[in-house]
Amino acid sequence: MKALVREGCSTTSRIQRSACRLAAVVRLRAQFQRVIVPRYAPAMTDDPETPIPDDKDWTWVLERPCPECEFVAGTPRPQIGAAIRSAVQGIIPALARADVRTRPAPAVWSPLEYGCHVRDVLEICGGRLDLMLASDGAVFPNWDQDSTAVEKRYWESDPREVATQLAAAAERMAARFDGVHDEEWDHVGHRSNGSRFTVETFGWYVLHDVVHHAHDVSG
Ligand SMILES: [Zn+2]
Repeated sequence: MKALVREGCSTTSRIQRSACRLAAVVRLRAQFQRVIVPRYAPAMTDDPETPIPDDKDWTWVLERPCPECEFVAGTPRPQIGAAIRSAVQGIIPALARADVRTRPAPAVWSPLEYGCHVRDVLEICGGRLDLMLASDGAVFPNWDQDSTAVEKRYWESDPREVATQLAAAAERMAARFDGVHDEEWDHVGHRSNGSRFTVETFGWYVLHDVVHHAHDVSG
């Protein structure tokens, strides 16, 4: 600090030395302001706010009713596929609404973004179901749903394309459950956080995801 204050001051006059110190302090402050101020300036982007990451472990919905969407786990095995087909019909019409791109709050997804999310959940979970069917005791690879939403820029999607993709993804998932053989329903799969599913409870878990987000977009 002293070295900086003295910098550029060759005079011996007390008044001039004070003036030099003052000028040096002003220079120093300006130097910091140039460095620090931009660092705290708001990011120059038109991208919507990123919602708070959903790190809740939704497996509790297998044990008790969901207070938000009123889902109760326990759909009989032969009806899980049909229930998925039915539940997705609670989301697809929302993708044709005038407010499809409107977020109800800055950090809450629009119907379009929920549609993209459910489409991707069904694709990812379809892969997980395939793993469980192919190998009893499978471990699922990680999937970060929140970073996927940002990377794929859900908010820029075409709602009609998303509706088509979502319907197809739901049909593929439903057909998978329709095709599960009796001896496969008790196959086990694990998420990396330790959650354990059977094919049956995984069906309820996936079904809840669709039902819950149909509830989210119903408002
Ligand atoms: Zn729910």
